[in-house]
Amino acid sequence: MLGYGQPHTRQSAKYYMLRSFPLPAVVIDLETTGANVSYDRIIEIGIIEIDEDGSTRKWSSLVNPGRDVPSFIEQLTGITNSLLSTAPRFEQIAKEVLLRIRGKRFIAHNVRFDYGFIRNEFSRLAYTFKASVICSLKLSRRLYPHESAHGLQAIIQRYNLHITKRHRALDDADAAYQFLLIAEQEHGVEKVSAILSHEKKSSTIPTALSHDVVASLPQQPGVYYFWGTNAELLYVGKGINIRKRVLSHFSSDHKNAKEMRLCQQISNVTWDITAGELSALILESCKIKQLKPIFNRKLRRPRVLYSILLQKNDKGWLTPAIVQLADTASNSSSLYGLFPSKNKAKETIRSISHEHKLCYYACDLEAIMQRPCTRYQLKKCSGLCVGTLPASEHNDTITTALHSFALKVWPFSGAVALREIEHQHDNDPFLIVNNWQVLGSGRVQNSVAVITNKYDEPLDKDAYQYLVKAILGGSKKIHVQALLSLNYEHAVETM
Ligand SMILES: [Zn+2]
Repeated sequence: MLGYGQPHTRQSAKYYMLRSFPLPAVVIDLETTGANVSYDRIIEIGIIEIDEDGSTRKWSSLVNPGRDVPSFIEQLTGITNSLLSTAPRFEQIAKEVLLRIRGKRFIAHNVRFDYGFIRNEFSRLAYTFKASVICSLKLSRRLYPHESAHGLQAIIQRYNLHITKRHRALDDADAAYQFLLIAEQEHGVEKVSAILSHEKKSSTIPTALSHDVVASLPQQPGVYYFWGTNAELLYVGKGINIRKRVLSHFSSDHKNAKEMRLCQQISNVTWDITAGELSALILESCKIKQLKPIFNRKLRRPRVLYSILLQKNDKGWLTPAIVQLADTASNSSSLYGLFPSKNKAKETIRSISHEHKLCYYACDLEAIMQRPCTRYQLKKCSGLCVGTLPASEHNDTITTALHSFALKVWPFSGAVALREIEHQHDNDPFLIVNNWQVLGSGRVQNSVAVITNKYDEPLDKDAYQYLVKAILGGSKKIHVQALLSLNYEHAVETM
């Protein structure tokens, strides 16, 4: 196996034929510049194609990674920078690779690694590669639990496999292929097939994560935290069953490279059990804003929110003004929408004005002058600025147009305690909420709340939406109790 694009060799079907999964399949091995699936690149690819009749074809190619290969990789593989300088780049062999592997079972030893690299190389070419995968490493763990090691080297030694060049792609792929043949012959088609179909549904635990941690994941609602090897916070998530939700991250069918990158880095998981789903949603939202985990993007919105306030100007026109939301202003019935920036609020005003032919002067999108607004000149203003549309009609139109954005009026006279009926135990804290703002959690006695954990958060868009849904949606999962007074004694600011 020298050079690249090596002509394939065909092997007749006189050998044992794999039957524990549908053929055709490919056994793949890659050599790479390193172990980081999103940063590192492929330097050699080895493919053993297994046809429907069990016959095999071998193919391999060096791949120019477009960067220097570290010297330890050169030493490990014997693939040097000078050897790669004349090799094709991945895009030059992508079509050939795809023709060989598309639509076939994708088998590799620690398939997460090879599948991830292949997927990333294709996604750099704007192609989404997907395959049904089989991991020979996992198969070894399941079939030979008494063995202490399951790496390729251990397997080669275990069966005394004849491999000429360790750490070259095609030879390593061949070792994995030979192991599959042996495993099926030793344990039978039925057993191997049962394990493979079970593995497909189950998940892979990140290598750096202790199995004890996984075993102790609670089946309760709450928030979980993924930590990296240097104790950096990678990700915060929530679920009504922490265990189930965490394991779903490790499922073998990774949605994207980002999810894979996250899983590769997880070395510890911690969690906070909450009283229920609502508390979990709110705690998650607060923790993400406070701790800014590396992999959370969606909920990392800024804390300052803007809203649209409708007020009459001196001409009697209802005009939208963009206001920064004060903590208690959310109870106003003339506020519309929660926006992360002034620009987002302005975009909404603009699109509403276009949709309803509202005058730019009355939408504060243009400074008022003597002449008609520019939209009128384009026949896109209904004529408020030239007096052909009465102010009352404009006022009705803009109020109706903004109606769906209207902030919900807090339906209680003051603060309330929320109890999540579905999961909550007697000792679980209540959520204390006023005016859609979570004040904290604590105990309640005789309609007096003692807040033990203070949430240092202004009105939060996500929490607002969760609370609106739960309270105004008449959720049967929560019970709301009006409070006479609040007590912050000994409150700890944890949020
Ligand atoms: Zn106008």
